Amino acid sequence: MALIVQKFGGTSVGTVERIQQVAEKVKKFRENGDDIVVVVSAMSGETNRLIELAKQASDDQPVPRELDVMLSTGEQVTIALLTMALIRRGVPAVSYTGNQVRILTDSAHNKARILQIDDQKLRADLKAGRVVVVAGFQGVDEHGNITTLGRGGSDTTGVALAAALKADECQIYTDVDGVYTTDPRVVPQAQRLEKITFEEMLEMASLGSKVLQIRSVEFAGKYNVPLRVLHSFKEGPGTLITLDEEESMEQPIISGIAFNRDEAKLTIRGVPDIPGVAFKILGPVSAANIEVDMIVQNVAHDNTTDFTFTVHRNDYQAAQQVLENTARELGAREVVGDIKIAKVSIVGVGMRSHAGVASRMFEALAKENINIQMISTSEIKVSVVIEEKYLELAVRALHTAFELDAPARQGD
Ligand code: ADP
Ligand code: ASP
Ligand code: MG
Repeated sequence: MALIVQKFGGTSVGTVERIQQVAEKVKKFRENGDDIVVVVSAMSGETNRLIELAKQASDDQPVPRELDVMLSTGEQVTIALLTMALIRRGVPAVSYTGNQVRILTDSAHNKARILQIDDQKLRADLKAGRVVVVAGFQGVDEHGNITTLGRGGSDTTGVALAAALKADECQIYTDVDGVYTTDPRVVPQAQRLEKITFEEMLEMASLGSKVLQIRSVEFAGKYNVPLRVLHSFKEGPGTLITLDEEESMEQPIISGIAFNRDEAKLTIRGVPDIPGVAFKILGPVSAANIEVDMIVQNVAHDNTTDFTFTVHRNDYQAAQQVLENTARELGAREVVGDIKIAKVSIVGVGMRSHAGVASRMFEALAKENINIQMISTSEIKVSVVIEEKYLELAVRALHTAFELDAPARQGD
């Protein structure tokens, strides 16, 4: 008998009919003799709807604590509906909010981190033969305030519960049948991966593949939780996220391509090329709580240099203001910015043992006449910033260049 944590995402519980289907599925697992803890998201679109309401009530500036009180209701609805559907099928079940379980988090509203999970109640219910249905995406801080874990946070609830309960597997059920070489919505030839390492999955998630929330992958790696991504309503093996890196001849150099449109670029031109300038530019940005991602400093010319970096698009205006002040202080020439950029990244542990991966990437982009604005590399990834309008073209070209396209089926 195994203990399995199953997480169902928004589209999988998007209607009452789908919730009935999920209940059927859970019932089958239960009949196999497994102990099941289910984590559910809010019905698809619900979290967005609630955020919209909050914005209307607050001139676009909802108080973070109150936003969490409201957002947590989305998941409260689905746990109750699923539990009703299970009981109706003769499956003993009980639902809990994050607070009721006591999923203790820090107090960072809207992006809280899980600190501790009390497993007592859950274990007692499982022992009594009940399926436990837990609300994803939410917790409670030490003062009793409701918190939420950031968008996509139900994945993290699932993995964290699996870690706390030492479950045999955490299964993430969603609307695709696994992790693909890239988002199958953008590249129809994308292929499902049998396996991907935690390290690669973490890069993919951090670089924009929103199939799993970044923190859920961090958690799974840290606590070695066996993690699998599967389709909610289609049978299949899904994708296993694993620790081991198999060395094989077949091992592709690149496992996947990730991309995002979340960033914006800022350049400060004509700053004096003297020690401490990078700190003078980025110090105030970080003091304003703005995270910087990619950074490029040009070679000096006439004792001045240009300095470019990217930030999240939501932080663009704030970063621009900070930079204008710095420009005045440093006597820089000007500040220019661009929000119409996109970041495309190739990811794969195979890169460690293969040279020339970056140049192959640049060649593929050059062939499509796509200009590269910024580059950053790490041991297992290469990222480039390009003009946003070329994003899909770039992803497709790279997918082909690294031989990731699925073989054409007959009739295609
Ligand atoms: P859920 O609501 O179940 O949490 P999400 O929308 O958060 O589902 O995640 C599933 C979606 O992630 C898919 O529909 C797919 O478009 C997108 N996605 C992005 N990159 C990938 C990838 N590499 N493999 C699979 N899906 C991906
Ligand atoms: N309902 C939340 C969201 O839409 C959490 C989740 O779905 O994982 O972000
Ligand atoms: Mg999700």
